[in-house]
Amino acid sequence: MIRELIVLGSGGSRMVTIKQERRTGGLAFIIDDGIFVIDPGPGSISHFNQMGLNPFSVKGVLISHRHPDHYTDAEIYIEAATRGANVKRGLLVGAKSVLEHVNDLGHPAISIYHKRLPKVVKSMIAGDTIVYDKIKIKALKTLHTDPYAIGFRLDDGKHPISYFPDTEFNEEIIKGAEHPNLLILSVLRPGNEKFPYHLCIDDAIKMVKIISPKKVLITHFGVKMLRAPPEKEAERMAKVTGVDTIAAVDGMRIKLLETFKPLDTWTES
Ligand SMILES: [Zn+2]
Repeated sequence: MIRELIVLGSGGSRMVTIKQERRTGGLAFIIDDGIFVIDPGPGSISHFNQMGLNPFSVKGVLISHRHPDHYTDAEIYIEAATRGANVKRGLLVGAKSVLEHVNDLGHPAISIYHKRLPKVVKSMIAGDTIVYDKIKIKALKTLHTDPYAIGFRLDDGKHPISYFPDTEFNEEIIKGAEHPNLLILSVLRPGNEKFPYHLCIDDAIKMVKIISPKKVLITHFGVKMLRAPPEKEAERMAKVTGVDTIAAVDGMRIKLLETFKPLDTWTES
């Protein structure tokens, strides 16, 4: 079961990443006794440790595309998931450009050495699915400067979650993302301030209307969004769509399930 969402970083884009105006750690899901980390950018592992989370409880690393604010700390999490690269363990999922050599982008983001460490490695394109630890992971279509970029639909059978990283809005990307309990959108800019291959709030509103989620989290903010600020934009979104909308802040935790189950407590000796 997907129990909790943790915002390891609510920042995105080049400028926010360079200046660390917000953390760029990506997201983490507590799933049963382990943790899935999604799109861990620079500083993710630091914030993860500072939050008191046990990095050895990581059992899944998911990477949507080959931009550094989404993958730089992934190899560290792979080493943590494999108990310091000692045990073949865990799951690594990534877009084709993250895990394979592709003509127009060159070497994959993750080294061959790190790809050999996890128990399960899956390179995905939109429409692909994999089931790991009773969680169904489906790759969603996106429209981004990395043409191989994907989103993720995570489903434990009770709490489907749809996550769109950087993408342009187009109705064709919605397929397979409909009616989640939680919709997570990377929204770079406020209002109607369009930027190619990214979402602004007006685009996000269109997506919410079509996808009709129970709840929305907006995150991965650029500089203009931080000035808006995101909370005000989330409020406007909620008013227009009628759907509860939250603006992410660093370290935010959202409980998705109340049942308590202790996390894996393995530590290095
Ligand atoms: Zn990107």
